Amino acid sequence: MNSQSISNFHTHTELCQHASGRPSDYVKVANKDGCSELGFSDHCPYPYELGINWDGCRMRPEQLGEYIQDVKDAARLADFKVHLGFECEYDRSFINWYKDELKGKCGAEYLVFGPHWVTVGKEHPYIPEINHDKKLLYKYTDQVIEGLQSGLYAFLAHPDLFMQGWKEWDSDTEACLKNILECAESEGLPVEVNGLGMHKGSFMTSRGERYGYPYHEFWKMVASSGVKVICNSDSHLPEHVIANARRARQFALDYGITPVETIF
Ligand SMILES: [Zn+2]
Ligand SMILES: [Zn+2]
Repeated sequence: MNSQSISNFHTHTELCQHASGRPSDYVKVANKDGCSELGFSDHCPYPYELGINWDGCRMRPEQLGEYIQDVKDAARLADFKVHLGFECEYDRSFINWYKDELKGKCGAEYLVFGPHWVTVGKEHPYIPEINHDKKLLYKYTDQVIEGLQSGLYAFLAHPDLFMQGWKEWDSDTEACLKNILECAESEGLPVEVNGLGMHKGSFMTSRGERYGYPYHEFWKMVASSGVKVICNSDSHLPEHVIANARRARQFALDYGITPVETIF
């Protein structure tokens, strides 16, 4: 091992149906790649009675016990501390589920705020696919801000995820991300450099080559703000768990940002 051990608090498992590997597979790679602390934050399930239809890309509520047991079993193999968490959307109607079930009964040590959709009545458009609909972007921003103020979460994952679809930096993306940034700062919540976004690669824009996220212009704003920053892999494959967190960390360092090492 020639590089420093680092932390990662954004880790998925095969239970979400779009990742590979069980918690023990992630721990084995993390042992080898140099890990100081590891948090599992698989996409949480939603109770059927809420009528949210994300069944194809989330674990089912009846799999919660299996997830918790898998994380416990994996922790026994780890050379570092392992934490149980979930990555969650924000919507007012989910608050009790998070508090009573995930934090209460399941004993989740933390919740990651990973907003992927905007609520429009019974519809939930996916945020990288809103296709320059400004009204939706501002609605999404309001929803993110309400989530940041809810007191439910430990940090904000991929704050700039929508740039993957929006692609060009403009006055609207700047205004929305500035609002999100200022809210995270005043709530004392770290914003995340997301290694999965880097793994997805870059594309050409009128201002040059950019990752969809972490997006250059946004991270310049972050660097000149006082907000806390966390670097995670958002791994959906065991081999990415530390490698992509390391890339995210290097990204932050390149912007002159000193990331936080832990959320505990
Ligand atoms: Zn995912
Ligand atoms: Zn994630």
